[in-house]
Amino acid sequence: MIPRTLFSSDHEAFRDTVRRFIDEHVTPHHAEWERAGQVPRSLWQEAGKLGLLLCDAPEEYGGQGGDFLHSAILIEEMARTGATGPTFYLHSDIVAPYLVDFGTEAQKRKWLPRMATGEVVVALGMSEPSGGSDVQNIRTQAIRDGDEYVVNGQKVFITNGHSADLLLLACKTDPTQRARGVSLLLVETDRPGFTRGRKLEKIGCKAQDTSELFFSDLRVPAENLLGEEGGGFKILMTQLAQERLIQAIRAVSASEAALEWTRTYVADRKMFGQTLADFQNTRFTLANLHAQVQAQRVYVDRCIELHLQGALDPVDAASCKLVTTDLQFAVMDQCLQFFGGWGYMWEYPIARAFADARMCRIGGGTAEVMKQIIANAILPKVQR
Ligand SMILES: Cc1cc2nc3c(=O)[nH]c(=O)nc-3n(C[C@H](O)[C@H](O)[C@H](O)COP(=O)(O)OP(=O)(O)OC[C@H]3O[C@@H](n4cnc5c(N)ncnc54)[C@H](O)[C@@H]3O)c2cc1C
Repeated sequence: MIPRTLFSSDHEAFRDTVRRFIDEHVTPHHAEWERAGQVPRSLWQEAGKLGLLLCDAPEEYGGQGGDFLHSAILIEEMARTGATGPTFYLHSDIVAPYLVDFGTEAQKRKWLPRMATGEVVVALGMSEPSGGSDVQNIRTQAIRDGDEYVVNGQKVFITNGHSADLLLLACKTDPTQRARGVSLLLVETDRPGFTRGRKLEKIGCKAQDTSELFFSDLRVPAENLLGEEGGGFKILMTQLAQERLIQAIRAVSASEAALEWTRTYVADRKMFGQTLADFQNTRFTLANLHAQVQAQRVYVDRCIELHLQGALDPVDAASCKLVTTDLQFAVMDQCLQFFGGWGYMWEYPIARAFADARMCRIGGGTAEVMKQIIANAILPKVQR
């Protein structure tokens, strides 16, 4: 493999801590969490104790004061072990940065330290039954009434929806506007008017509590607004490069792991007086996948490097997410094939990885939305 050059010895020591945490606290319990449809709060608290939450948030707000490489290590190791249940990346690397960058001092002091210990778990509420890709067209409303907002509407597919104590909620403060009508509110889930719907039954990522959420005349103080009223869409745009990069990191790490499991399996599986690894089909298919994944590893590492310098363009991040999640799905499909019937059994990691990978071309912006973004950047605007 082409050696990776991103990480210092301090980062590698952190990777060891993460691996120990996963071996001890995650892998032995993941199947049980899949049946329960969620991970226990004690896991978040254990991760908090070890400094695995809010890795790159400032220490003054309870964060670990690390850099994005610490986050990347956690994301990689979780993906490598197929641990889709603990959604630390959503909590620490998608929601927390909005608070760090746009929260008031009071909001940061109130929420970030408790997020860092795992006392508070957060979710991001954007998607609605009427659509997830077209965020400007959301229908959940937050109408100002004196020094409060009154929230009505519903969200769907919300990760951590059942366990979250705090939602970063996208809503329309001006329903007559598209992007300029969108605002972000911090909504505590113990407020009257909030109810959780079903924990949705998914074909993969089964240990994630993905839920419907309902808001009926829920009142939040105006001080729970994140950023300016009507500025929510702009704020959401600021984190796009990081969100897409996270999906790419997950994809390439999961692909590498699947190739490793498959190499071991085909070398061991005997048939027709030889091993499965002896067939030319096996050799060429795995060689081809290996070459493609290796190229993507270098590509993703370069995008991480650019991101550390604050220079990763959201369009380039969209390209990276598009190709890595497409390849991830192809890798899982072709690797599963080598496991024969065993590959279709849930007890085999490759079966889970196959189902989990399907989601990656939908969540965090669909493949088509990524293509649309890239096309808009490289082609003239469509005349309507
Ligand atoms: C497991 C899981 C977890 C999730 N977690 C969260 C979460 O925590 N928070 C949250 O807010 N959302 C979450 N989502 C929702 C996810 O972000 C949406 O599913 C996604 O954005 C797509 O929205 P949609 O499902 O409404 O599909 P739609 O937007 O209705 O899209 C349907 C189809 O139309 C295509 N399409 C859309 N726009 C275009 C276009 N411009 N050109 C061509 N084709 C297009 C799409 O690619 C797709 O194929 C999650 C989803 C899943 C499955």
